[in-house]
Amino acid sequence: MSTLTSPKYLKSLLSRHGFSFSKSLGQNFLIDENILNKIVQGAQLASDDYVLEIGPGVGTLTAALARHAAKVVAVEIDRSLKPILDETLEGFNNVEVVYGDILKLDLEELTKDRLEGRPFKIVANLPYYITTPIIMRFLENDCSYTSITVMIQQEVAARMAAGPGSKEYGALSVAVQFYTRPRLICKVPASVFLPPPKVGSIVIALDRRNKPAVDVEDTACFFKIVRAVFAQRRKTLLNNLVSAGITGLDKAALSQKLSRLGIDPERRGETLSLEELALISNNIDCSDAIS
Ligand code: SAM
Repeated sequence: MSTLTSPKYLKSLLSRHGFSFSKSLGQNFLIDENILNKIVQGAQLASDDYVLEIGPGVGTLTAALARHAAKVVAVEIDRSLKPILDETLEGFNNVEVVYGDILKLDLEELTKDRLEGRPFKIVANLPYYITTPIIMRFLENDCSYTSITVMIQQEVAARMAAGPGSKEYGALSVAVQFYTRPRLICKVPASVFLPPPKVGSIVIALDRRNKPAVDVEDTACFFKIVRAVFAQRRKTLLNNLVSAGITGLDKAALSQKLSRLGIDPERRGETLSLEELALISNNIDCSDAIS
């Protein structure tokens, strides 16, 4: 049982340290033991696991992770939390807190030095204002994370897990499903945070695939195509590809090429499966890309 999930204890800890919440840093601290356990269970930690936590706050999740894993490296942007974390994490000799911005820190240095170059699991109650950039940073970086278990806003989780044809399906769905297998763990009401956020949340685990979901010859070209086809949702696939200027082909030639691949050029991007996006990218020469 963590005393940090007790609202009464948490409020007294924060006031003793003169801490005030920063809305702009997405500071909503977890005050529910059951959800805390669900995050830890969802991460499927083994006692020899290394963990990277993003945004430890007052250390509630950090301490729970440290009890189940070999080492926890936690990255916190807000230095004013240092005296609190020094107190709450005292006695854990397997936790290291790094003060910095997860979007700016040198990931190679972080993973090589702090995580000793070992495979690691990412676990976090993420700051919601930068959920997508954080996830994309890890998906696109070649570091050795094996899974990402995170609390995020419900709407972003729906986009990550969405399939073709739904209104939530977009570039984020494709990137997440290309690199990982999403696993929904539980829905979380706003009442489990202090202060409560304005949106509902979800705990989701993204288990990294051994290899991407579809075979693509050029990953950069694949994602150029993905960005292009979802750029303007009301436009057709053909018009989006033409506007993006990522092929050396004019509209008529591109239309013919798509038809030859068995893909109707008049379709909307959001109806294309990962397999179809891969088929397009493997048959279009992005080398002429204006980008
Ligand atoms: N883990 C704690 C919990 O579950 O109660 C706090 C979670 S709170 C939703 C998000 C945390 O991320 C805050 O501590 C905030 O200061 C931190 N944070 C915000 N932006 C950050 C960034 N760019 N890099 C690292 N930490 C950040």
